[in-house]
Amino acid sequence: MIDPFGRRVSYLRVSVTDRCDLRCVYCMSEDMAFLPKADVLSLEELERLCAAFVRKGVRKIRLTGGEPLVRRNVMSLIGGLGALVKDGALDELTLTTNGTQLAKHAEGLAAAGIRRINISLDTLDADKFAILTRWGKLDQVMEGIMAAKAAGLAIKINTVAVHGVNDGEYDRLVEWCGTHGFDLCLIETMPMGDVADRSGQYLSLAEVRRQLDAHWTLADTDYQTGGPARYATVAETGQRVGFITPMTHNFCESCNRVRVTCTGTLYMCLGQDDAVDLRAPLRASEADNLLDAVIDGAIAHKPKGHDFIIDRTAPPAVARHMSVTGG
Ligand code: SAM
Ligand code: SF4
Repeated sequence: MIDPFGRRVSYLRVSVTDRCDLRCVYCMSEDMAFLPKADVLSLEELERLCAAFVRKGVRKIRLTGGEPLVRRNVMSLIGGLGALVKDGALDELTLTTNGTQLAKHAEGLAAAGIRRINISLDTLDADKFAILTRWGKLDQVMEGIMAAKAAGLAIKINTVAVHGVNDGEYDRLVEWCGTHGFDLCLIETMPMGDVADRSGQYLSLAEVRRQLDAHWTLADTDYQTGGPARYATVAETGQRVGFITPMTHNFCESCNRVRVTCTGTLYMCLGQDDAVDLRAPLRASEADNLLDAVIDGAIAHKPKGHDFIIDRTAPPAVARHMSVTGG
């Protein structure tokens, strides 16, 4: 799959549910209305959709959400997709999770063929964690993280920089990740979906980088995970720190990904509304010809890039929440 700008699409992110057991302030409003179950693809339909993309050249799939591990029986989907990794049809299956269910699932994930996961954690302070997630328990997530480590999964911690909440904690996070052998990826808030006023949340990672440079020896690297992060190695810990800066740096030139929601809507860009429905062709017939044709047509319309901007008056760049497309 090659888009009109010559970019090869080899990475599919699949949101397996829009539901979540947390309500992070930058991601969701407190009273989110979730999708009716009938609109959501079954696990079998999601697997069939993924298989179609793999046939078309996707080499990496990331499951996300909402919180992927709160979807009932999600391990059956993970087992099915893991088999594609085991037989070489897929290079990598991975997952982005908030960690709350990891104590239960870490070993199953490793057994399914998952080798590394991203875990979102914005603070090491239990009170701040409860405020940021509106009711999350840090202990539960820590237990999950340690279960994932014990199961042998490589871990990258994703931290959204939230002004007024976790500023001042980045040094501690670098140190904590270094102690446990985790990479860290810092993310700027993006204007997606209506949440409480987000104008105060934005913190430029250029500022965070300045703070880190004062305490750590960071050496920029050209290490790539196929994602938009730019990485530096921390000499003191040997771990990497990544920076995802959609607001201050446009990462669109090298975009290799598309996203499917749990209703089968294909978004060609995280920051644009262009979308194509794959549920109707998926359900229209058991053969995949129609589905394949719709996917080809969609890739031919992948937009060049996003138009993110955050200020007090601007509406969100896109109306949907991050939990719809999964980041
Ligand atoms: N629930 C899982 C989790 O939190 O890891 C997976 C889905 S979550 C939407 C994926 C990632 O998007 C998380 O790392 C989260 O912090 C990030 N995220 C959510 N809303 C965001 C926003 N408005 N700007 C930047 N990152 C955001
Ligand atoms: Fe849930 Fe993840 Fe969004 Fe937080 S960032 S509300 S954990 S989907």
